[in-house]
Amino acid sequence: MILDSRIPDGPIEQKWDNRKRDLKLVNPANKRKHNVIVVGTGLAGASAAASLGEMGYNVQSFCIQDSPRRAHSIAAQGGINAAKNYPNDGDSVWRLFYDTVKGGDYRSREANVHRLAQLSNNIIDQCVAQGVPFARDYGGLLANRSFGGAQVSRTFYARGQTGQQLLLGAYSALMRQVSAGKVDLHPRFEMHDLVMVDGQARGIVGRDLVTGEIQRYVGDAVILATGGYGAVFYLSTNAINSNVTAAWRCHKRGALFANPCYTQIHPTCIPVSGDHQSKLTLMSESLRNDGRVWVPKEKGDRRSPDQIPEDDRDYYLERRYPSFGNLVPRDVASRNAKQVCDEGRGVGSTGLSVYLDFSDAINRMGEDVIRERYGNLFEMYERITGENPYKVPMRIYPAVHYTMGGLWVDYDLMSNVPGLFVLGEANFSDHGANRLGASALMQGLCDGYFVAPYTIGDYIASQDLAPIDTSHEAFDQSEKDVTDTITKLLSIQGKKTVREYHRELGLLMWEYVGMARNETGLAKVLEEIPKLREDFWQNVSVPGRADQFNKNLEMAGRLADFFELGELMARDALDRAESCGGHFREESQTDEGEALRKDDEFSYTAAWEYNGAGQSATLHKEELSFENVKLTQRSYK
Ligand SMILES: Cc1cc2nc3c(=O)[nH]c(=O)nc-3n(C[C@H](O)[C@H](O)[C@H](O)COP(=O)(O)OP(=O)(O)OC[C@H]3O[C@@H](n4cnc5c(N)ncnc54)[C@H](O)[C@@H]3O)c2cc1C
Repeated sequence: MILDSRIPDGPIEQKWDNRKRDLKLVNPANKRKHNVIVVGTGLAGASAAASLGEMGYNVQSFCIQDSPRRAHSIAAQGGINAAKNYPNDGDSVWRLFYDTVKGGDYRSREANVHRLAQLSNNIIDQCVAQGVPFARDYGGLLANRSFGGAQVSRTFYARGQTGQQLLLGAYSALMRQVSAGKVDLHPRFEMHDLVMVDGQARGIVGRDLVTGEIQRYVGDAVILATGGYGAVFYLSTNAINSNVTAAWRCHKRGALFANPCYTQIHPTCIPVSGDHQSKLTLMSESLRNDGRVWVPKEKGDRRSPDQIPEDDRDYYLERRYPSFGNLVPRDVASRNAKQVCDEGRGVGSTGLSVYLDFSDAINRMGEDVIRERYGNLFEMYERITGENPYKVPMRIYPAVHYTMGGLWVDYDLMSNVPGLFVLGEANFSDHGANRLGASALMQGLCDGYFVAPYTIGDYIASQDLAPIDTSHEAFDQSEKDVTDTITKLLSIQGKKTVREYHRELGLLMWEYVGMARNETGLAKVLEEIPKLREDFWQNVSVPGRADQFNKNLEMAGRLADFFELGELMARDALDRAESCGGHFREESQTDEGEALRKDDEFSYTAAWEYNGAGQSATLHKEELSFENVKLTQRSYK
């Protein structure tokens, strides 16, 4: 199989213009003859569905939640990047592009990242026009703050609720199209399968989550915007409903899965407090603008933080990375937190946390300023831990947060399956081996508002699309496959709950495919996951029926896919015998313990092809070429 990324010709600054120049168009009168299926209503899906509706296409929009505006994007806290350079601190499209390629440890596709940086400014204009209440300074201008991996302030924000406000903007645009009759909403629906006809993506089959009815939908193209798969680790900052099912079922129908092992572990999360938890809580990276990270200099120092004098504290990020200090990228901050905890200098009852201390900032600017910037985050922290972060330092530890891998897409955001487009966190496209903070919202909205609406038109205009409906035999086969899986899950009637299995899988993933990976551990987990999966299919208990609301059944189906994905993640991690970004192979590190890439061997995107249950996947490589950015050992010192 030849992977054609279809990167347009020309200098990097002109590639997107060149592509737009060459795109075929669908004329306005014809757009209303075409149906587009959009699965997902987070920032990527809602913005795509609203834009396509506005352009005249008929759109069917699907999500798991009871309302599109409850998609996981609503949880995003800290902000969204754009190269507006309002603070006049030296930012530019080029710098955002450069920071993102470097931040991703030189494992992303230059052309896509440059387009993202170019379009970032349009996103802010679009959202301001929608009335998104971005923070403003005293004079009324849009305010910016800093995020990791950048030496400029380019992050637009709405307190600690940026995702919510952006999603309300996209949701308003979507609902406008719903009332205009251009978008049909299908909440509480879960996509289970992609329907292919003549080698093209032509529809989906899924389950109404309230009635259990299996339903079929036909379209001329399918957009998947179904988010990330961090929940494979069980404990993560992702919403409980986040899953890989839609993407995985597309993978089983032929879509390649790219870089599955690239997982982002976020350094500032509320630490695990026991085995009762089903989810972890993020403390936004924005807090590292003003909070200082430290641990005691001495191992096992059990004094309370206010009893530890300045001289006995180690502000290890400021010490090791004087240029970026507390705002080093997430992979670097996470690894350093793990390292000081492994040395026995972690704090809290488990020794698995570090301090994030605001006392200097409060002394300098006053509590009111800190409350204005981060009030809701401080309140959330206090509600969960019972500690007042205005008075005592927060305690934080890394946790699984984001997945850079996803379905492989070309420059047009189309997978290798014709007609299947993948947007937002569900694709692999822009963040390489490590995503910089505040860049996921930027990517989701860029894909949905500004890229897919152009490229889908080109696809539709250039295809011969056979007139079919849901009585086509491909739908019959797909519905049968979906029903068989559901029947099988319900028939096992074993002894162990879905949640118990999920927790066990999560522990395996965290231990062997988590913050640090090595050959022995990966080989071991590649034996353990299939054993656990076998056991699941023999012994899981899924109570209830198929024709009713059944949360256990939903979760069991998703977990079945997580087992298969987990194995592929381990396989990919084993295959990539280098360290890069969030993928840290212990065998490949510099003398100073930083990730050591091996560009001669691994400068490619790994795109895996599904070969059937229990069979090894086939690796395809998209070689990465860097014509604009020089590959160097990443340094934030
Ligand atoms: C706590 C937290 C804070 C964050 N803060 C920031 C931040 O400040 N800045 C930033 O840039 N990024 C942040 N991120 C990352 C960012 O929020 C996500 O990457 C982004 O919102 C993903 O958007 P999306 O549209 O791709 O997917 P999502 O918002 O995850 O939406 C997925 C959609 O797909 C639907 N779906 C999924 N599976 C199916 C299925 N099988 N059938 C039907 N529908 C399905 C869901 O119902 C949902 O509508 C944060 C992430 C977390 C966890």
